[in-house]
Amino acid sequence: MTLPHYHSYIHGQYLANESRDTFSVTNPATGEIIYHVDTSDEKVQQAAIDSAKQGFAIWSQMSAVERNRILLKAVSLLREHNDTLAEIEVKDTGKPWQEASVVDVVTGADTIEFFANIASALEGSQQQVGGDFYYTRREPLGICAGIGAWNYPLQIACWKSAPALAAGNVMIFKPSEETPLGALKLAEIFTQAGLPDGVFNVVLGDGKIGQWLTNHPDIAKVSFTGEVNTGKKVMASAASSLKSVTMELGGKSPLIIFDDADIDNAVSAAMLGNFYTQGEICTNGTRVFVHENIYPQFIEKLVQRTNDNIICGDPMQPETNFGALISKPHQEKVLGYISKGIEEGATLLTGGHALQPDNASNGYFVAPTIFTDCSDDMTICREEIFGPVMSVLTFTDEEDVVARANDTKMGLAAGVFTQDITRAHRVIHQLQAGICWINAYGASPAEMPVGGYKLSGIGRENGTETLKHYTQTKAIYVGL
Ligand code: NAD
Repeated sequence: MTLPHYHSYIHGQYLANESRDTFSVTNPATGEIIYHVDTSDEKVQQAAIDSAKQGFAIWSQMSAVERNRILLKAVSLLREHNDTLAEIEVKDTGKPWQEASVVDVVTGADTIEFFANIASALEGSQQQVGGDFYYTRREPLGICAGIGAWNYPLQIACWKSAPALAAGNVMIFKPSEETPLGALKLAEIFTQAGLPDGVFNVVLGDGKIGQWLTNHPDIAKVSFTGEVNTGKKVMASAASSLKSVTMELGGKSPLIIFDDADIDNAVSAAMLGNFYTQGEICTNGTRVFVHENIYPQFIEKLVQRTNDNIICGDPMQPETNFGALISKPHQEKVLGYISKGIEEGATLLTGGHALQPDNASNGYFVAPTIFTDCSDDMTICREEIFGPVMSVLTFTDEEDVVARANDTKMGLAAGVFTQDITRAHRVIHQLQAGICWINAYGASPAEMPVGGYKLSGIGRENGTETLKHYTQTKAIYVGL
């Protein structure tokens, strides 16, 4: 069977390479190649820039209300094609259909709707200065680059393009080389919705194409999602032309459970914050600090529910709630961390090995894994694993657990479970993290700004403030 072959999406259509440089995409649940993709060559890259300039000349001159109308049409199309798009995400990432069909496209569409609706409310200001006055305009930045990770491919493309486009910018987006199809389908939908050609172009390839974007002098801003170390390279490269950057990077987030917490809810949060999307979520609460008074009950419920409720298998089957990791090398990396945990003295309570479910025996699965007897200095408690590996630690003292929770270079997310609302806020206010939950974990609606402290990032995605990151202020003095 001939497999599909995708090209970059430039100026409202697919544009083939002149070079024969291609790569393949594998379904992580089967280990089979599912399609081939061009790496954008110089001709395509130049076309992407030329087209973006033309797109900007049209799009930036439209009123926010006109832009809103087109973006909302794209939102309707995304929702109409939810199931087709969700299936693409399942096959590219290995995540369960159960999740992708109700989260990935839905949250992407919600974010475009949110920014489309608020962009027309962006206002400048004016003030009298003596007998004269000045006024300000909020103007778009120009061509923005979006560079995505592989865990939420379509959602990331929506989260980056939504504020950029709503504010009148254009975007050249580079999806992860592991999962490029979702962004291409988004580009098709934008065109179908009436987006002028060149407003959303997709270039394809690995880090070299990302580097080309971050280094390009015609690009005004880079919004990046990926690993901390890649983020550092992106920033260094963006400095060459003083681009502004948004960085959505990794985490090693604490989830703190006090002894007055609703244990069932806290167990649900620990499972969600470690095993949802088979642990491949940046905000995961992988360091679970449990108060010693409730430790035995917590562990008993946690292990029992993990063993009873998690169904690993073919991600397209409706009952599957735990899928495959993105690739063989990533599976090996996660298993390597598990070996390190055992070697450094943590107790393996459950999981700790690769899985070969009957209906997906060639996939890159790793069993949901829980370690106890962990200490703060263990590798599994310090480094981002990005897989289904939970480390449970104990504590007795509030001040001590806050200090331990903050003892990391990262600061993406944090969660606190307690019935004492005063303590909940007191603790959350001391935690060095940008995305926090009290008696909840993981929810991230379009209205809520998300982003990290410390090495976990710069700037925010979602929420009204993000729109301002995609505009610049022009002040105009008028002499009378
Ligand atoms: P990655 O850093 O390996 O790759 C991310 C993207 O950067 C890919 O598109 C890749 O091709 C590109 N890239 C690689 N080298 C580059 C370079 N030198 N210049 C420009 N672009 C380059 O990350 P990944 O493995 O795809 O994703 C997993 C990571 O993403 C995890 O660390 C996770 O925590 C993080 N993540 C963060 C968030 C967030 O919102 N904070 C969300 C999802 C994932």
